[in-house]
Amino acid sequence: MLLAIMSLVSCDDSIEENLPKEEFSALNQENKKRCFTMDKLEDNLSKDKNIASKMSAIEEHTRNFIKKGNFKRLANGVIQIPVVFHVIYRWSSENLALSVLQGQIDALNEDFNMQNPNRRALPSEFASVEANVGIKFVIKKVIRVRNFKKRKWRPNDDMKYTSKGGSDAVNPQEFLNFWIVNSMPYKKGQILGYAQFPGGNWATDGIVVAKNFVGPRFRTATHEVGHYLNLRHIWGDGGCYASDFVYDTPNAKGPSRGCPSYPTAECGSNNMTMNFMDYSYDSCMYMFTKGQSYRMNAVFAPGGFREAMAK
Ligand SMILES: [Zn+2]
Repeated sequence: MLLAIMSLVSCDDSIEENLPKEEFSALNQENKKRCFTMDKLEDNLSKDKNIASKMSAIEEHTRNFIKKGNFKRLANGVIQIPVVFHVIYRWSSENLALSVLQGQIDALNEDFNMQNPNRRALPSEFASVEANVGIKFVIKKVIRVRNFKKRKWRPNDDMKYTSKGGSDAVNPQEFLNFWIVNSMPYKKGQILGYAQFPGGNWATDGIVVAKNFVGPRFRTATHEVGHYLNLRHIWGDGGCYASDFVYDTPNAKGPSRGCPSYPTAECGSNNMTMNFMDYSYDSCMYMFTKGQSYRMNAVFAPGGFREAMAK
């Protein structure tokens, strides 16, 4: 169904650039492939046999962390993540200003600390599971790389290598590397962003977001950082019985689209369409759950994949 919808939409750059901003944003969110993270995971798993065992060790660590109930860090402290932006651009309009990057950081800080204004719309059914994840983001460094040849990128990690016209990751054990490229056409649509889960290769660790979805108005980075901190899509990338490994997110048949009105019931419960790990419009997603927060915090706990970042 998704492919059929996408094929109706022509997405070449000239059309995008001629559309009014609001229309462009709605078009993108409705008809384009929001996130390439799971496709990328499959690709990485098939290329590197070590990743599967690393990821299953991370799952075991996560289960143990949650079982012990040691969530002190959630209440007492905030983990700070230094962000290295890699802005890969051809034209100066693609070379996002520091104010836009700071706006993106501010949006992440709102979303991970329960300060985003949209959360006021949260239905009372979900109020008890809403979580303050307690992670703060700060800009560590901005690297700007001009690539005169390339404006359209494939989700193949080329942007993560200086030798391929991109920019090498900087200390991924300590910093979140955040690559921004002009666009990522895919089939007849576009990819908004993708992330690498904990357990992948360090050289490609981080998130990639297309420049039209970076800034204070967008939630693509929030969703991708969720993956980067080990969250799955809320529908578990399958049907009603597929799991996202989180106990307090309701099952869903598939991703939500547009801005669903509450309640939308599937699989015997109301969908949490406003969760950042769904595919609703940016303005209609505004929460993480406690279970998701525990999973993310486990990554920073002793023995966690991103332990060095929290120190
Ligand atoms: Zn995703």
